[in-house]
Amino acid sequence: MTVGQWGIRVPARQGEAMRQALIREGALDTLLKVRREGTDLILPVLAEREGAGRYEFEAHAGRDPLPRHELVGGIAILQEDDPAGAEKILASRPSLHTAVYAQGEVSGEYRTRELKILAGKPTTRTEVTEHGRRYTVDLAGAYFSARLSTERQRILDQVQEGEVILDMFAGVGPFAITLAAKASVIVAADLNPRAVELMLENIRKNRVENVVPVLADARRLAAVLSWKFDRIVMNLPLAGTEFLPDAFRLCRPGGAIHFYALVSTEGEHTARIQELGGTVIAERTVRSYSPGQWHAVYDIIRDQN
Ligand code: SAM
Repeated sequence: MTVGQWGIRVPARQGEAMRQALIREGALDTLLKVRREGTDLILPVLAEREGAGRYEFEAHAGRDPLPRHELVGGIAILQEDDPAGAEKILASRPSLHTAVYAQGEVSGEYRTRELKILAGKPTTRTEVTEHGRRYTVDLAGAYFSARLSTERQRILDQVQEGEVILDMFAGVGPFAITLAAKASVIVAADLNPRAVELMLENIRKNRVENVVPVLADARRLAAVLSWKFDRIVMNLPLAGTEFLPDAFRLCRPGGAIHFYALVSTEGEHTARIQELGGTVIAERTVRSYSPGQWHAVYDIIRDQN
């Protein structure tokens, strides 16, 4: 019997080094066998990550494969309402405290989803460690995606020391707290009070002193902030286009905007960005969303006036 799971493809000669790295990270799915395809190996991993694709894997003999799930901190999120499977996941992964069933897609203004507790501690709150930073998240109360950790590091690499940054849709603060390592100050806004409450907790926990959390609708920022920002992060893929004109107003000429959008063709938003006075430096796929649709990030530079 084969099982569908996320997998990382590497040339066979790099397979052992990658396997060891995934074990150290706790990311390797040890219940499934590594696959060989030509000169490549495909290593099964527990959650979607940069460069991962979907593959079929054989289970190791005698090891019962676990139901499909995603991990966020100590919580396993199942795609089926399967209490017995949830118990099995908790028994096989001692670092987990709770298993939940994601009853629907991420939805609503706050971008949260309904979760049903299947097994373990009755909580949707957990702690996530990402590149040495710790975040308290509440999966039912505020948005958080562990899949964006590589993306946050990618933006951090582009930040120059001392930048003044705006995160328009900051959630519990993972972009803002990551970028704080190089920025002089970051204004981090969100309209979900629970997200801002957790952001405050995360600011304290990570001993960050240059993030200014703001409980506000991003629609109001251009009217009240007189600053011109060096860089703006816009991570609201389903509705971000509405906020682009305000982002251009808040960005200094020559400054950068990272605009996340749901797209179905490459270059879908380029004409609009040019019309607003921006140049697209790069457009990258962040993750797949549905057949024929994906989340893309446009790295934009605001043109000099
Ligand atoms: N950047 C965060 C992260 O990576 O975890 C959160 C991204 S989540 C996709 C979008 C966030 O935008 C949610 O936390 C939601 O509450 C917030 N949001 C939605 N509409 C907003 C608005 N008009 N103004 C400010 N925040 C908004």
